Amino acid sequence: MQCLRCKGLMIAVHMRDLSSRHSVSGWHCLLCGATTDPGIEANRVSHVPPVRSRTRVPGSPAARLGKGRA
Ligand SMILES: [Zn+2]
Repeated sequence: MQCLRCKGLMIAVHMRDLSSRHSVSGWHCLLCGATTDPGIEANRVSHVPPVRSRTRVPGSPAARLGKGRA
């Protein structure tokens, strides 16, 4: 598995889940120390990335295109 943050090597680890009191398997990055577990992964997958606003900024070159060019 590749680290999402630094693309480093991640190893499988077992972590204790405090809420359910059982150990869960997750991933630990050897380079940056990032840790991820199935719960975090599920959150990440279900989270829809914000849609980039298509609102034009007044005065930007894109907004002026096609206008005022006589
Ligand atoms: Zn990393």
